[in-house]
Amino acid sequence: MPASQTILLVEDNPGDARLLKEALRDCNRTPPFELVHVDQLAPGIERTKQERFAAVLLDLSLPDAKGLETVVRMQREAPTLPIVVLTGLDDSSVALEAVRAGAQDYLIKGEIDGKLLVRALSYAIERKRLQDETQRRLERITALKDINTALTSTLDVSTVVDILRAKVHGLMPDVVAIVRLRDRETGEFETLAGENLDEQAWKEAAQRWAGDNSISNLVLRSPSPLRVVDLQSDPRIQDREFLRQHGLTAYLGIPLLFNDEVLGLVAFYAKGHGAFSDEETEFLCALAGQAAAAIRNSQVHGEIKKLANDLGRANHVKDEFLGIMSHELRTPLNVARGYVEMLQSGCFGKLPDEQLQALDKVAAQHRVQLGMVNNILNAIAMESEVAMAHCESVDLRDFFDEVQYAYPQPLDGKVEFRWLIAHDLPTVRSDKTKLHYILQNLINNAVKYTPLGSITVSANLETASEVLGGDPKTILVLAVADTGIGIEEEFMSVIFEKFSQVDSSMTRMHEGIGLGLHIVKRCTELLHGKVKVESRPGQGTIFTVTLPCELSNDAQRDAESKDSSTAGR
Ligand code: ADP
Repeated sequence: MPASQTILLVEDNPGDARLLKEALRDCNRTPPFELVHVDQLAPGIERTKQERFAAVLLDLSLPDAKGLETVVRMQREAPTLPIVVLTGLDDSSVALEAVRAGAQDYLIKGEIDGKLLVRALSYAIERKRLQDETQRRLERITALKDINTALTSTLDVSTVVDILRAKVHGLMPDVVAIVRLRDRETGEFETLAGENLDEQAWKEAAQRWAGDNSISNLVLRSPSPLRVVDLQSDPRIQDREFLRQHGLTAYLGIPLLFNDEVLGLVAFYAKGHGAFSDEETEFLCALAGQAAAAIRNSQVHGEIKKLANDLGRANHVKDEFLGIMSHELRTPLNVARGYVEMLQSGCFGKLPDEQLQALDKVAAQHRVQLGMVNNILNAIAMESEVAMAHCESVDLRDFFDEVQYAYPQPLDGKVEFRWLIAHDLPTVRSDKTKLHYILQNLINNAVKYTPLGSITVSANLETASEVLGGDPKTILVLAVADTGIGIEEEFMSVIFEKFSQVDSSMTRMHEGIGLGLHIVKRCTELLHGKVKVESRPGQGTIFTVTLPCELSNDAQRDAESKDSSTAGR
C-alpha cells in the first residue's frame, strides 16, 4: 500500500480541527491523507522545516498571524508547499486575495465535507506540482539561453569551462561539475575541477581512475550519458572513500561531443541527493552540448591564432634569409658586371664581333638576375612597417628621359617601344626611387610578356577635384600598354600578391619570381596612389597607375601664373 500523505493543519480552533479530522476519516482516498495539527503559525512553520508535508491547511485567523499575512509568511518559509486556506463565511474576499497571493485554493468553514476536502487537497497538490514544474522548466530554458550567450561571448576554453560550472552551481547548488578535456595534440586528458573542490586532489584522483574500465572511459566510449544512482554501492566506481569524503552521492557523466569528435566529458556529481532525474539529465545534456560547441570554437580560435603566429615567425625568418642571400648575391653580380663592361669597352684589347655578341648575352642575363635580386631586397624593405615615401623634387621630364634611355629600341624589330610622355610635365614632390621601381617593373613585364608587337609607355598630368569641394588635386597618370600574351581573368585577383605568378607555359618560359607587381602595388600605396590592370588574353595588357602629386614650389608658381593669365583673358 502506498505511503500516506501528511497534511499540516494550522488551526487554533480545536472544534474546527476536530471537524476536519472527522470529515477526512469518513471520506479518505488512496493513499490516504493524514493530518498533523498545530494551533499557531510559528510552530507550523517550524514543523515544515523538520518534516515533509504534502500540503498545508491554513486558517487565516490565528493568534500569531491574521489574514493575508498568514499566507505570505507561510509561503516565504515553505515555498514548495501547496496551501489551502480555511476561512469563515464572512471573509471570503480575503480568501480570494490569498489565492491571488499564491494559495492554491480556499475552503469556507462550515461548508466543508469529506469529499470537498479531499478534492481540494488533491487538486492543490497537483496544481502546485505543475506550477513548480512549469516554473522550473522556464528557469532552465532561460538558463540555457543565458548560458548560450555567455558561452559564445568568449573564445577562451578555460573561461567557457568556468562559465559552465558557475551556471550549474547557480541553478543546482548541490551539484558539482568536473570537466575533463582531451588535448588534441597529445590525446591526454586534463581535469578541471569545480567549485569548492580541491583541483589538485581531483587531478590525482583522475590519474588513479585512468584505467580502461574507469567510469570516465565508459562515458567517453559511449555516445549517451551515463547515470550512477548510488556512488557507494555501484561496482563500476573506484575510490569510493574519496567520493564519500567529498560528500558526493550520485553521478551523471556526459561526453562532450562536437561533430562526432570526442572533446572530453563533463561529470556531474550530486552532493547528498539521489540519482539525477530524467528532467535534470535532459537539462544537463543540453548544457553540455552548448559547452561542447563553445569549447570547440575556442579551440579552433586558439589553433588559428597559433598558426598565424607560426606563420608570422616563419615569414620573418624567410624574409631575413632572403635579405641576407640577396645581399650576398648582389656583390659578386656587381663585380661581374664591372668586368663585362670593361671587356665590352675594349679595356683588355679589342674583341672580335662573335665574342662581343656573346658578351651582350652575358650582360642581358646579368641584368635579369640583378633585377631579380634587387626585387627581393626591395620587396623585403617595403614589407617593413617603417617603409615610407621619401619625397624630393623630381623633374618628371628628366625622369622619363632617364627611363627611356635605359630601354633602347630592340634591334630584332619584333617589339616596338612607343613613348607618349606629355611635354609639359612639371617638377613634383615625390619619391623618385619608388616611381622608378613602379615604371621599371611594369616595363620589364611588358618586355617579358610581349613576344611581338608594341609597348607604349605614356605619362600625363590630370587635375581632379576633391569630391566635397576642396583644392583640386594634380594626378600623375602613368600607363604601360602592351600587345603581349595578356592575363586570364581568373588570375587577375592574385597577380599583385607576393610570389604569385600566372600558371601558364608562357609565364614559365620567362624568368621571374612573382615580386614585380607586388613591388608596383606597395610603392603605389606608399605614394597614396592606385594601380589598375585591364587585359585580354592573346591581345595585350594595360597597367595604369594614378598618383596624386604635390607640385614643387616653382611648378606651383608657374601653374598659378598660368591660371591667372587664363582667367584674365
Ligand atoms: P614575375 O616575376 O613572374 O613577372 P610579377 O609580379 O611581375 O612576377 O607578375 C606576376 C604575374 O603577372 C606574372 O607571372 C605574369 O604571369 C603576369 N603578368 C605581369 N605583367 C604582365 C604582362 N604585361 N602581360 C602578361 N602577364 C603579365
